[in-house]
Amino acid sequence: EGAKIRTALIDSTGNVLLEQTDPTSQRKTEELTCQLIELIQTFKQRAPQYGQLVATGVGVPGLINLKTHKIEVLPNLPQISTTTLCDDIMQATGMQVIFDNDANLGAYGEWQCGVAQGYQNVIYVTIGTGIGSGIILNGQMWRGTTGFAGELGHTTINVDGIECACGNIGCLETVASGPNIVRRMQQRLYRDRTSSLTRFFMPRDREMTHEDIIQAAISGDELAQVVFERTGHYLGIALGGLINLLNPEMVIFGGSIMAVGNILLKPIIAETKQRAFGPCFDNCRIVAAQLGPLSGVIGAAILARDSFK
Ligand SMILES: [Zn+2]
Repeated sequence: EGAKIRTALIDSTGNVLLEQTDPTSQRKTEELTCQLIELIQTFKQRAPQYGQLVATGVGVPGLINLKTHKIEVLPNLPQISTTTLCDDIMQATGMQVIFDNDANLGAYGEWQCGVAQGYQNVIYVTIGTGIGSGIILNGQMWRGTTGFAGELGHTTINVDGIECACGNIGCLETVASGPNIVRRMQQRLYRDRTSSLTRFFMPRDREMTHEDIIQAAISGDELAQVVFERTGHYLGIALGGLINLLNPEMVIFGGSIMAVGNILLKPIIAETKQRAFGPCFDNCRIVAAQLGPLSGVIGAAILARDSFK
């Protein structure tokens, strides 16, 4: 999902057999390519004790062109030039590999193996380093003309906001993504020193992360809870418009930020109710991902399974 790479070995019904998470090599394209190839090779070597490894799916936090199979934009990994990543990985591993946007894969995972099984019109929103969404309409993935559909994180939420990694001003992502939740928390801590997180202003050996804020909120830290309430407000503004536009029967929230659970989901639902048409809101379930942070890797494996069977 940008800052981290999650790798898993998954059986044909979506069960996770092996799983590991690594920080992303962000310095150079070659390093990232090597890291991905190594991870795939390692899992390939460990696979035979579980059964035959059929295919690999790779989720990428950016725009993948359906027609050329090229990654066109990776807003949160600007130092990575992306033109040959897919080809390089396929050549080096000798495997059948599918590449897709990570949010599309999260949607696919929840649709095939998670909370959205049996549903026809579903939007999956992932909140992590960035914010993306995958859209299922009439029982099919909606990818748009060239595969770029679902960039919910880059809808404008604040016309006077700050510049986004994509170049636009005031995108949803500039206030509600993991790094921007940290940024907003830091701003509040300058004004309010009652939070348990003020310890991050003391001499310290590391920076505050969104995991720290999630833990603080769950432990009852009021300031951290207020930051998530405000984050839910922003997400609900975007979701209200999306529900009015597409009239889905379910919206799923996943990604690493959703570890905070109802502290974020409740204000999202409250704000969406304020913003959307009543009948649209009433016919839409707004829920947390059933597969938690694994929606994307499970979706990647299951889509690879379905692509090569
Ligand atoms: Zn943007």
